[in-house]
Amino acid sequence: MTDSFRLYRRLLAYIKPYWRVSALSVLAMAAVAGATPLLSGQFEPLLDESLIARNPDAMWRVPLTILLIACGKSLAEYISSVSSQWVANKAIEDLRRLVFNHQMELPVTTHQAQTTGRMLSRITYDIPQVGAALSTAWIVVIQDSLTIVALLAFLFYKAWHLTLIIFAIAPVVAWIIRKASTGMRASNRLQQASMGEMTCAVEEQLAGLREIKIFGTQQHEASRFARIATQLRKETMRVVRISSANVPMVQVLAFAAVAIVIFAASSLVESGQLTPGQFVAFIATMAMIFEPIRRLTNINSTIQRGLAGAQSIFELLDLQAEEDRGLQKLERARGEIRFENVSFAYPGQEAPAVSDFTLSIQPGETVAFVGASGSGKTTLMALVARFFEARSGQILIDGVPLQELSLAELRQQLALVGQHAALFDDTVAHNIGYGRQLASFDEIQEAARQAHALEFINKLPQGFNSRIGSNGNQLSGGQRQRLAIARAFLKNAPILLLDEATSALDNESERVVREALVELRRDRTVLVVAHRLTTIRDANRIVVMERGRIVEIGTHESLMTAGGAYARLLASGEEIVGDEPTPASLSETLAFNEAVARG
Ligand code: ADP
Ligand code: MG
Repeated sequence: MTDSFRLYRRLLAYIKPYWRVSALSVLAMAAVAGATPLLSGQFEPLLDESLIARNPDAMWRVPLTILLIACGKSLAEYISSVSSQWVANKAIEDLRRLVFNHQMELPVTTHQAQTTGRMLSRITYDIPQVGAALSTAWIVVIQDSLTIVALLAFLFYKAWHLTLIIFAIAPVVAWIIRKASTGMRASNRLQQASMGEMTCAVEEQLAGLREIKIFGTQQHEASRFARIATQLRKETMRVVRISSANVPMVQVLAFAAVAIVIFAASSLVESGQLTPGQFVAFIATMAMIFEPIRRLTNINSTIQRGLAGAQSIFELLDLQAEEDRGLQKLERARGEIRFENVSFAYPGQEAPAVSDFTLSIQPGETVAFVGASGSGKTTLMALVARFFEARSGQILIDGVPLQELSLAELRQQLALVGQHAALFDDTVAHNIGYGRQLASFDEIQEAARQAHALEFINKLPQGFNSRIGSNGNQLSGGQRQRLAIARAFLKNAPILLLDEATSALDNESERVVREALVELRRDRTVLVVAHRLTTIRDANRIVVMERGRIVEIGTHESLMTAGGAYARLLASGEEIVGDEPTPASLSETLAFNEAVARG
């Protein structure tokens, strides 16, 4: 209870900037509440004056009053609905932006600890639930409470002894309604579970389309899906049955209550304590009380769902952003990189991925990293970009420890091409110019030429203006990689991190890109993890890694002569790095962050 209260208070903080409109909506709700008993109260002059006393004055006064009140009430209802929805949607928009922006500030490790589906459903599912709690629930709770109070006050004023009967009956009605809504909530949960199962099945179908076709399992998948669809229909119908019974049930209860009151009130009319008009007005007003009660007792589930959504959103917003406290300035780095006893282990893993790593890289030097899959090459690059923080030791750029640079300033110095470069659903030109909004078309074209991407771009239907689909799924692996390389070329950063950046290229493209790299390397520091012996040979130094440690350093020639780990690695096969092949599935497209992290 106190927890819900705290959540609601925190939620209300998002409404606070719009308090003027919120106040307007409450005012309008009060008007609706006040107008309701006035409307039913018109039965009194209608019967007593118009029909019984046949007062000619009342003949037109009563209908006119009804018309005026009804107009006012409808206008107030419109204002209360629109203004509260406006406030709720403003809050939804704010929350969506906050969540989206905060996700980009979170450390890569935090992203890895969450599933992509969960991250997505926050924005698409949780936030609308919160919106419903802020708009629908807000209207029902305030407007209906006020209406009930206004109706009861009116009844009490007209005939307090009869009203006491209602006080005795109302709790029983509320209790019965409550029972029904509990059953409803249970069915709702079942329905949501089936819905989740269905989403999962569709996701699997899309991701595994090729597998389904090649293994011929369409029949199997179809019957599995049919079972889920049937189940979902049955659970939906259960909800429909319960919710459809809801209104008639309340009506029956209301009429039962009305019958009791009529019985009691009739005696009052007989003894002359109540005029016929007062009698009818009382019954009419009383009948109006049950609908708001029904809505109020049902609204709890909406509020609970909203609070559950709010909780999950606040959990995300409370996650710590990347630590970014560096103040040191660095115009353009010379490109000296020093690793001093750097160690790092992934969260929850015993063995360090990088262990006591010490290496000094001179400005303008090209260093190749080789070693078996899992030896820590990608992790090392991620540490330079501060995607992860070293557990101990430190990394310095131009003599400045990474933590003393602001993250933006540090990453300004780096261009990174990983194994799974993420592309955006935009044109070729915009993908190459990503991160450099001001790049001219000539610059973009030049970068594409250097990355050996021109020939395939020119073959696209609209050249540089062709859209490449979500994460570039209309391109081949090699084409995507060349776009990523062009993007890195264009960034023109003093430090270039290439993690198997050319692994998906054919030999010919790789040769041309390698030649472009030779040019690019001139006044840059390059850290390269590569497949091919030709690329590795170009490096000034080769670092051989094993289980996160350096086992050998030297040039190709010196290492060959030494006949150690490097020579053995070369002898073991053509693939000197031997990393796993690049997958390209739907789930991978979604897992942009994971892809960046694992690189
Ligand atoms: P390489 O790039 O040389 O193949 P990595 O740096 O990717 O090696 O991996 C080094 C080690 O860290 C491996 O043992 C791998 O299993 C582990 N590792 C890599 N990425 C993650 C991750 N995101 N979470 C946990 N462990 C990881
Ligand atoms: Mg790797």
